[in-house]
Amino acid sequence: MKIVVLGGGESGFGSAVLAKKEGFEVFLSDSGKLKEEYKSRLELEGIAFEEGGHTPEKILDADEVVKSPGIPDTAPMVKALREKGTPIISEIELAGRYSKARHICVTGSNGKTTTTTLIYEILKAAGFNVGVGGNIGSSYAYQVATSERDWYVLELSSFQLDGTFTFRSDIAVLTNITPDHLDRYDHKIENYVNSKFRIIRNQRPEDIFIYSVDNELTMKYVCDHQEHMTMHSLPFTVKETLLEGAYLDDKGMINISCNGKETTIDPSTMKIKGIHNIYNAMAAAMAALSAGVSGDVIRETLASFGGVEHRMEVVAEHDGVLFINDSKATNVDSVWYALESMTRPTVWIAGGTDKGNDYEQIKELARSKVRTLICMGLDNKKLMESFKGVVPFIYSTSSLSEAMECVAKVTHPGDCVLLSPACASFDLFKNYEERGRLFKEWVGNIDELKKRLAELD
Ligand code: ADP
Repeated sequence: MKIVVLGGGESGFGSAVLAKKEGFEVFLSDSGKLKEEYKSRLELEGIAFEEGGHTPEKILDADEVVKSPGIPDTAPMVKALREKGTPIISEIELAGRYSKARHICVTGSNGKTTTTTLIYEILKAAGFNVGVGGNIGSSYAYQVATSERDWYVLELSSFQLDGTFTFRSDIAVLTNITPDHLDRYDHKIENYVNSKFRIIRNQRPEDIFIYSVDNELTMKYVCDHQEHMTMHSLPFTVKETLLEGAYLDDKGMINISCNGKETTIDPSTMKIKGIHNIYNAMAAAMAALSAGVSGDVIRETLASFGGVEHRMEVVAEHDGVLFINDSKATNVDSVWYALESMTRPTVWIAGGTDKGNDYEQIKELARSKVRTLICMGLDNKKLMESFKGVVPFIYSTSSLSEAMECVAKVTHPGDCVLLSPACASFDLFKNYEERGRLFKEWVGNIDELKKRLAELD
């Protein structure tokens, strides 16, 4: 049987290694360039590959194709495979067939990485033999090929879920659903929602589904499909009291009751802040409790967990100005939570590649929290027009250096400078990580920048 792996990034490379180990004839094909490191590893493993383009005959010869999540359905090679009727699966589907471990899977529009990392840290602290994968770190398929784990915690994007068919989560977590990536879903929100709910496909009555009662799109789907949902449901909310699940009591404590186990967490002892992180903590704690971790270990890990880089990351305080790197905020909903948690007059850096954003839902918060908006992108028109008359000062810049010069001029002691772009980074940067890293470098050199600007004056 021949397996073709389309796309040779982290997940494609891992899939090729696993497929080869399981005895398949494997061919990996990437339309772009492969990393040198992957190329030498593929050669070492004796896996055939090509880069810089696809050879149709070789790809159409596959019995099954593992497609990287980054390749859209509209790609010509994918269309040709569909026409031919070749099964197309994701790395997760492939690796799930050969993994004997139990799986805690996390999806959602926002909070996936934070919640996944949190669950992984809690399980590790409890002494579990656990791996983390999906969108994070080394690929799940590669780990299945090379190590024996009892548990995996997997962060799954909707694109990875789209290629799953028999894969089953023992514990599924859906953090929330808000419009994102609609360009890949025919601009239909129901397609995106259905894709997220693939996380509970194949779940059995003994499996667990953790979801937010406060999220409208999630609840609409749950209400519409109630009769088919036979797994054990564990909801979470900050707005009401629940008999089973997680909620905030009248003293502001997180109360958790699941499957006869109970525990409480005091949010003030957690390092990560904001309502969004209360949600993430609730979801992570219920997943860990369901996996058999004690309340004590969950509380200890939540008290020491400092969050993940580029997510509301406190960078530094210079001359009374606090700098926060939230470069991962690539949609409007995540910016809502960032602005909501601001307690100082805010200089907000936003902009980049627009993904069909609707800024209406954050205008009210921007009005009360933001003094200055610095737009940073090649095309700032939509952003500037959206916030005209909403925030007092708006500047247009088209590079990080210009944006930081602007920061140096307009900040006062007591301010917070928040990089929370609401947009993708591809117009000016390689990715959101590079955007965040360069921002942090500029923050490190802000005193020099101010000196240089003062000399020019
Ligand atoms: P994802 O992996 O789903 O992109 P992250 O944990 O990386 O999620 O966080 C992405 C952005 O969303 C960050 O700006 C973060 O501050 C914000 N965020 C984190 N958790 C939530 C949540 N539960 N709801 C809304 N926004 C969130």
